[in-house]
Amino acid sequence: MDDIILETAGLTKEFLGFVAVSDVSLRVRRGSIHGLIGPNGAGKTTCFNLLTKFLPPTRGTIRYDGRDITGMKPAQVARLGLVRSFQISAVFPHLSVLENVRLALQRQRGGSFDFWRSETLLRQYDDRARALLDDVGLNGYADLTAGELPYGRKRALEIATTLALDPVMMLLDEPTAGMTHEDVDRIVALVKRVSAGRTVLLVEHNLKVVSGLCDTITVLARGKVLAEGDYASVSRNPEVVTAYLGS
Ligand code: ADP
Repeated sequence: MDDIILETAGLTKEFLGFVAVSDVSLRVRRGSIHGLIGPNGAGKTTCFNLLTKFLPPTRGTIRYDGRDITGMKPAQVARLGLVRSFQISAVFPHLSVLENVRLALQRQRGGSFDFWRSETLLRQYDDRARALLDDVGLNGYADLTAGELPYGRKRALEIATTLALDPVMMLLDEPTAGMTHEDVDRIVALVKRVSAGRTVLLVEHNLKVVSGLCDTITVLARGKVLAEGDYASVSRNPEVVTAYLGS
């Protein structure tokens, strides 16, 4: 099996002549936690949207798990196991936490409503949903409505609904944005836990968050790759320091 699960070549996105992502070549190792970081406006979100096919590139190619996915639709790449957290981050606020995960499981199995007819199936979905809530530390919150969850716990619910789609590779978009220190620590531990047996690409603004988490970090600035390596090497890179100080 190829050691590189995701690879881009010359990935470029222009918005009316403005180059937001410029000639980005990224290689993500299977089983790794790879950080894509950079100051505001670096092109992280655009990159994320290109990788998950929410935006078409102006130029360049994307290969995932041995296939060229450049021309594919988001749902197609999700079926191949490349799943972004954002796509189901529209948590249903009036449904319970458990129901949110159950719906995500149902979606993963093709959106059939058959489980409402079968007590056995319903129980299976419930058991799986509760196990996922356990995985993300939300077992005590199953019966609350999702809207009642504190912000940090809502992000954990997003991760649970992402896991329900059985991802091979998860793309997480700033899972700790806007969180308190305590919540950040909890999400960092959670990402570490759920990454077992998977590949994770983490888009982050915060260098500290990726420090204990990522095997490899790609630093973007003004749409270009500025540096790549482990945390120790990129955080010492003078160009990276300048890019962050200037942001
Ligand atoms: P980051 O996520 O690193 O903060 P973005 O990918 O959001 O960066 O943005 C990179 C650059 O591209 C910014 O200068 C932003 O203003 C610009 N940009 C992003 N999306 C669009 C768009 N739809 N139209 C025009 N410019 C855009």
